Amino acid sequence: MRVLITGGCGFLGSHLAERLLERGDTVIAIDDLSTGRLDNIDAFSLNPNFSFIQADVSTAVDVPGPLDAIAHLASPASPPDYHRLPLETLAVGSRGTENVLAAAEKNSARFVLASTSEVYGDPTVHPQTEDYWGNVNSVGPRSVYDEAKRFAEAISMAYARTRNVDVGIVRIFNTFGPRMRAEDGRVVSSFISQALNGDALTIYGDGSQTRSFCYVDDLVDGLIAMLDSSEAGPVNLGNPVERTVLEFAQLVLQATGSSSSIEFHPLPKDDPTRRRPDISRAQERLGWSPRVSTEDGLRATIDYFRSCPSEVSAAADA
Ligand code: NAD
Ligand code: UDP
Repeated sequence: MRVLITGGCGFLGSHLAERLLERGDTVIAIDDLSTGRLDNIDAFSLNPNFSFIQADVSTAVDVPGPLDAIAHLASPASPPDYHRLPLETLAVGSRGTENVLAAAEKNSARFVLASTSEVYGDPTVHPQTEDYWGNVNSVGPRSVYDEAKRFAEAISMAYARTRNVDVGIVRIFNTFGPRMRAEDGRVVSSFISQALNGDALTIYGDGSQTRSFCYVDDLVDGLIAMLDSSEAGPVNLGNPVERTVLEFAQLVLQATGSSSSIEFHPLPKDDPTRRRPDISRAQERLGWSPRVSTEDGLRATIDYFRSCPSEVSAAADA
């Protein structure tokens, strides 16, 4: 297959690119490097089946040659990133997604949208099934991301219905692994960096809010299953093992052997109180289930962070 990955220099996009190259696909990555980085593609940038175009998909998507599939991952994803880039986040979810859909239509390519569990907002249904419509504050600080992704889902379905584009929507739940930026502000990267630096782990709120963490290799399996299928979705992709943020902090302290303390800080506005995917649909329609435990995934991620000590120590000043 000849696959276009938007956001191909990001955390998830670079892992997806690497796996598709390994199975013999040709991969073109488009990225404006706003939250991604070239280091993420170092491992395969010289592969003759790989090419990189530095461009903002919200402006245009101009890719030479035919395409069999597109994975649309371009978007800031960590809360500090989308708070810093609110208009860019709305632009890439709306104009950017339409530009990428138009490229899919032109090439008769399969189009997979990386949507998010954030479309459920602060959920009143638990665990979250795809049939749940969500509880999003459209004027709150997280809305630039949540509503951009909800719009992206809506326009994708409109292209499927009116332009016959082969659309698939995945709703990704919190995912972690190597190539996360140490200073991206997400809980996994923050806690690991803090533990390795000997700094206090910063828990927002009392730590009773929950998340369910999926290891990147599993998530990429799910993305590839979706690319290879004709399933429209939406399909939740995530690991249903749910933990409180406080439990997760303790797990990180244990796995790093750190003696860092724990500090409590104010909970950000509209921070979802609980989140766990119901993955029955992914199991039934894609034959997909996560296989890597949080503990094993954490060990691999901690090893990665240990391999880039200057980045980890710089995260303390970010
Ligand atoms: P990331 O920030 O590491 O990667 C996003 C990539 O998109 C970056 O390389 C960035 O430079 C690029 N990008 C952003 N705006 C762009 C634009 N206008 N044009 C071109 N490139 C652009 O984030 P990630 O964690 O790899 O997330 C990838 C996708 O998966 C995002 O769409 C995100 O919303 C979705 N997602 C991720 C998670 C997660 O836990 N990682 C959870 C839910 C959804
Ligand atoms: N969080 C935290 N300390 C941090 C960063 C995040 O306690 O240093 C909390 C955050 O408030 C949220 C959870 O951890 O409840 C997950 O945050 P993250 O930004 O990783 O993802 P999201 O909120 O998008 O699920």
